[in-house]
Amino acid sequence: MAKPKYNRVLLKVSGEGLCEKGAKGIDGPALQKVASEIKQVAELGVQLCLVVGGGNIVRGAELARDTHIVEVTGHYMGMLGTVINALAIQDTLEGIGIDTRVQSAVAVDRVCEKFIRRRAIRHLEKGRVVIFAGGTGNPFVTTDTCAALRATEVGAQIVLKATKVDGVYDCDPVGNPEARRFTHLTYNDVIDQRLKVIDVSAVDMCQRNHIPLIVFNLNVPGNMRRAVLGEPIGTLIDAGQP
Ligand code: UDP
Repeated sequence: MAKPKYNRVLLKVSGEGLCEKGAKGIDGPALQKVASEIKQVAELGVQLCLVVGGGNIVRGAELARDTHIVEVTGHYMGMLGTVINALAIQDTLEGIGIDTRVQSAVAVDRVCEKFIRRRAIRHLEKGRVVIFAGGTGNPFVTTDTCAALRATEVGAQIVLKATKVDGVYDCDPVGNPEARRFTHLTYNDVIDQRLKVIDVSAVDMCQRNHIPLIVFNLNVPGNMRRAVLGEPIGTLIDAGQP
């Protein structure tokens, strides 16, 4: 059996991975696709946790810009959107035989557990996929930062950030054939060049806690598994020299 490079992995799935391209809401086939990729990783025997985004439902800043909703409220709504996505992923994973727990930073007692670090670690040790919802529980933050935070809290060895492109590029690869993908970047490269694919605060937190990140394309089947096996896919971000 293939030997994973990492034993405890944190996967960040954005809301856009759960809906049709350019759409909002939740799409059944997209959910199934994500779940089957996650299953392939879980079957490697690694301890796996997820941070789920909510951009397919609400982005607080956008909502505040387009409506009379106060921005803080928009962010609370965004956090609740991540709970909705987490429940969708939970049922889809359990439907294909993967044991899961959802833990939310925003208490929604009737539907999931609260985030409790030691309990989350215990779930991981028992082989359950832990789905972190509710972001950090604080407004004006994104779920990328939450991913770096939770990875640090549970001692994950890698953050895998699933995107719709093959990694980090020097400019937006969508509609720009000249865009060049980096295979390797340092934390400082991403921070100094303000490369857009991941939040600077998330990269900063990973740097301080010595957690590497891999940005990869979720739409290529098997990619998530390959990343966990240590195959060179996407863009690796760590302290080393490119
Ligand atoms: N959000 C927040 N605090 C957090 C995480 C998320 O306020 O700790 C809100 C914020 O408004 C954000 C929305 O939830 O825009 C959805 O999260 P995000 O944009 O990170 O989702 P993604 O782009 O990954 O789907």
